[in-house]
Amino acid sequence: MSRILVTGGLGYIGSHTVVELMQQGHNVVIVDNLSNSTIEVLEGIEAITNTKPCFENLDCNDYVGMERLFNSYPDIDAVIHFAASKAVGESVEKPLLYYRNNIGSLVVLLELMNAHGVHNIVFSSSCTVYGQPDEKHLPVDENAPIQKALSPYGNTKQVNEQILRDTAHANKSLNVVLLRYFNPIGAHPTALIGELPNGIPNNLLPYVTQTAAGVRNELKIFGDDYNTPDGSCIRDYIYVVDLAKAHVKALQRMLHGECDEQVEVYNLGTGHGVSVFEIVNTFKEVTGVNLPYVVVGRREGDIEQVWADATKANAKLNWKADTPLADVLKSAWEWEKKLRNIAE
Ligand code: UDP
Repeated sequence: MSRILVTGGLGYIGSHTVVELMQQGHNVVIVDNLSNSTIEVLEGIEAITNTKPCFENLDCNDYVGMERLFNSYPDIDAVIHFAASKAVGESVEKPLLYYRNNIGSLVVLLELMNAHGVHNIVFSSSCTVYGQPDEKHLPVDENAPIQKALSPYGNTKQVNEQILRDTAHANKSLNVVLLRYFNPIGAHPTALIGELPNGIPNNLLPYVTQTAAGVRNELKIFGDDYNTPDGSCIRDYIYVVDLAKAHVKALQRMLHGECDEQVEVYNLGTGHGVSVFEIVNTFKEVTGVNLPYVVVGRREGDIEQVWADATKANAKLNWKADTPLADVLKSAWEWEKKLRNIAE
């Protein structure tokens, strides 16, 4: 049985991945500083898996604390590094916070992995590295050009990918998998864990479910004059549980020594583009809940359309994100109802 260190393991994608790892028989150690998560998530994980995972309330930038952790768990086989600040707007306001949190923590981790003989790391990257791909690059595969980041947050993902490549180049025993996520949505089918947005949500789905729950008056749709079939933006929305399962597959590939390259890159998406209006209409259809919305102007920095070519992940990881959108949206609504104590 392997031991996996999961940083940010109480966060949205981290917690769903911890559940899948545990259900596949891995031992997990979670490191999380609770900056954008709560300790109740640990109880949710325990309720789903019937096991309490090891948890350390620690900041990945705390070298001394992290060193103590590596000493306490000498059996760590791999790291999955989720811990990061992720609000694009905040990163524009507080770039240094983002560079410290997101870059510093990876450096600390890699130094300690090196010192403690841990040779495997899976990193949470993002499709933001592609910016708006040219039409000829849609759907976007892993070889599409990387575009200049539009925010410090986006830049931290690019710089982190480069740090991992440079470190792997210098240390041939280090294996790296870079997972570029498209738009993760939904919650665990048990409704025991899910997304916990901080304040007013920036992302579409939490805004949709909070509006349906009456927490927000109306959803603002940012633009209906894009060059897309219905005028709204197109994204590749991937079910968070499917995404979590991809991490387990990537990890197993590494641990079994099956990687073709020292640094492997995978796009994690469904391979299908869905518009904002399609999300709104499908949500209304499957939940039967009223969802007031208004079309407003475009949001600055928004990309018109992007969706994944996930062929490589489908083939090499033997994985597919195939949960129907209707089920995913239902899971998001079940979670919101649970959070707000809304009866059936
Ligand atoms: N969006 C919207 N209203 C909102 C939040 C998002 O219309 O309140 C749109 C946004 O313009 C984009 C899509 O929903 O087209 C996904 O936005 P999100 O912020 O979730 O993801 P990202 O833009 O980072 O891909």
